[in-house]
Amino acid sequence: MAGHVFGRSSAAMPTAVSGEGCYIRDAEGRSYLDGSGGAAVSCLGHSDPDVRAAIHDQLDRIAFAHTGFFTSEAAEGLADLLIANAPEGVEKVYLLSGGSEAVEAAIKLARQYFLETGEPERHRVIARRQSYHGNTLGALAAGGNAWRREKYAPLLVETSHIAPCYEYRLREDGESAEDYGLRAANELEDEIARLGPETVMAFIAEPVVGATAGAVPAVRGYFKRIREICDRHGILLILDEVMCGMGRTGTLFACEQDGISPDIVTVAKGLGAGYMPIGAMLCSGRIFGAIEGGSGSFQHGHTYHGHPLAAAAGHAVLSAILGRELLPQVRQRGEALTDRLQATFGQHPHVGDIRGRGLFRGIELVADRGTKAPFDPELKLHAKVKKAALAEGLICYPAGGTIDGKHGDHILLAPPFIISEDQ
Ligand code: PLP
Repeated sequence: MAGHVFGRSSAAMPTAVSGEGCYIRDAEGRSYLDGSGGAAVSCLGHSDPDVRAAIHDQLDRIAFAHTGFFTSEAAEGLADLLIANAPEGVEKVYLLSGGSEAVEAAIKLARQYFLETGEPERHRVIARRQSYHGNTLGALAAGGNAWRREKYAPLLVETSHIAPCYEYRLREDGESAEDYGLRAANELEDEIARLGPETVMAFIAEPVVGATAGAVPAVRGYFKRIREICDRHGILLILDEVMCGMGRTGTLFACEQDGISPDIVTVAKGLGAGYMPIGAMLCSGRIFGAIEGGSGSFQHGHTYHGHPLAAAAGHAVLSAILGRELLPQVRQRGEALTDRLQATFGQHPHVGDIRGRGLFRGIELVADRGTKAPFDPELKLHAKVKKAALAEGLICYPAGGTIDGKHGDHILLAPPFIISEDQ
């Protein structure tokens, strides 16, 4: 198609014309199995009748009412349902239009919290080298993906990046997973000491690292230690669940499996499931209370935040995840998927690691399985894998990510929760 739309790829792309269940069809009539839900977005598959009906119903009543004047039944209903199922202590919801917006709002909320509580010197964010938090400037500054940051470096606010929790690469020989988790988490404490605890406002991390690393969960105990360190120094813990949240890992919030609650958590992709652009930032009652009892309101906002159509879609998606009991299905299908991946690729000379949780799985590709040496970035392996898979009718999400700051290749699989074992 010789159109005027430009996107992230200069290569010619097929035109998507329809979708049904786990399949997308293009203008040439070819069908593709959506093995990654785009980028871990389409958790209910395509053309879900309940979500479509909820959007139509909302559209027939009212599409938009500015949040400067009105709240809406759709937004209130979604927020209630999110909070009823949120981690302990998380009590308020701020609705946005996507993941980057949710992260920007989280960072600004953290800053305002410390202004309200009389600690204005707290302004620094600590993040991890293997992370992606969005493409807007604040979120990009927090992210650790060198390639995404490179061109815009002069525009990015200075952020500290510590090592990720990445067992396959960074656990030392003879070190237990538990010891490794504590060592990795303790890097946060070292960085806080280096910066001065009184200047640090937040630590941000993805519970299961998505786009930059290919579904890398932390080892058990890592996030518990992170929580302790944040509490000890009065620092807010922001968990970015934009990709791994909304049931993708088998629990509604990924952090439930780490046994911790965040101060702020962001969700997006699976919340709209691709039906509407939506994201959300959820925060603790303590943070909200400080602002409500202080200046009175969060000094932020976008024209489209809390959009009723998006909120209606989000409510229908969340109702489907919970009401159709898709979470146990994600766990069971996730086990089946990982068993198949292990049986098929477990001994492949160019597969270093197969990992993840629920229906969020990553395959790390290596040039040498023994030494774990990555492929040369110049090969652009991920682009070749993506093209080859598409030619076979499979959508997967290969990326040239980072191995603690350096190049690595992986394939991310994040199929719809409704996928069958055969598919
Ligand atoms: N945070 C994480 C963990 C993500 O994976 C992404 C997108 O991939 C974002 C934030 C940004 O979300 P969006 O692309 O909706 O702005």
